[in-house]
Amino acid sequence: MERIIVQADRKQELVNTMELLFGRSSVVVSLFDQHDMLIYGNQTYRDLTRLGADELLSWSDIIRRNHQAADGLNIEAEDVELWLARANERRWRLPYREFEIDLTGGRWIQMTETLIPDVGLLGVGVEITSSKATVSSLRQDYLRAMVEAETDPLTGLGNRRALERLTALLETAGHRKGVSALMIDLDDFKSYNDLYGHLAGDQCLKRVAEIILSSLRDEGDYPLRIGGEEFLVLLHATSVHEAMRIAERIRNQLTEAALPHRGASAGVVSISVGVAEAMQVDVGSVERLIGQADRALYRAKQAGRNQVRGLEDDD
Ligand code: GH3
Ligand code: MG
Ligand code: MG
Repeated sequence: MERIIVQADRKQELVNTMELLFGRSSVVVSLFDQHDMLIYGNQTYRDLTRLGADELLSWSDIIRRNHQAADGLNIEAEDVELWLARANERRWRLPYREFEIDLTGGRWIQMTETLIPDVGLLGVGVEITSSKATVSSLRQDYLRAMVEAETDPLTGLGNRRALERLTALLETAGHRKGVSALMIDLDDFKSYNDLYGHLAGDQCLKRVAEIILSSLRDEGDYPLRIGGEEFLVLLHATSVHEAMRIAERIRNQLTEAALPHRGASAGVVSISVGVAEAMQVDVGSVERLIGQADRALYRAKQAGRNQVRGLEDDD
């Protein structure tokens, strides 16, 4: 009986000392006893866990309550008991650990937990919301820069750098699915520039890019602008037969758009398209595929332009 009283005295003394030291601190401070009951939580801790001034709950009950109210600690779980079981696998296991917790409303706390023998589990945390925001805005800037570096500013399509990344992706993930390529080149485009000027030429390229995009499927089709007036479309998991159909669709849509071009025999802007297929993909396949599509394009030009061609036996 006496032992318990002494312990209770000691506990009260401890709580008084902690209140003296941390009561008004903006640092988050909590102390749980060996039954995981809160012995002490300073005002900052009580604020963020939504505890009243004298409330001493178990850690599990604090979590349950925050989860139930969806307020305070952000407990992202359908089943809070499962969440607690997982969390308890780590809690009280190590002499010291650090982790981040997030609060509803988007604030972040860097927490440390120290096991103090014969006393309990001491939690100390500081708010890191503003440094988190800096890191994530840096990250966003970085991601944006990466996207910009791989995007052609005129058409919004991927550029040669995007092709490098795409090649690596297809050559690792594209196995057995096969890839087809469309190599698209504007016909008589030098004379378009000569007749209408470079700016009008750019607008025309933009229009062609829009038509290419609108003719493609949402998934698995990757259009790129790889040269001044040259476009490449890589079509994942697509047979050459299907690729030819897509190429014809692009060519027809451009014909329907009827962009005037006095220097072309048909009087409108047209494209020639070379189509090739790689049935299986491994390292080097995409480069070979592009070479084949290029040869098919050459055939289309030779045969009089404004048409789609695949490879022939002697290619
Ligand atoms: P072909 O039918 O054989 O493809 O003839 P072409 O005149 O299109 O081919 P050529 O390779 O002789 O000329 C391509 C022209 O495309 C050269 C240049 O005037 C124009 N061009 C290339 N890049 C751009 C660009 O970014 N903007 C504009 N406006 N014109 C470009
Ligand atoms: Mg060209
Ligand atoms: Mg051309």
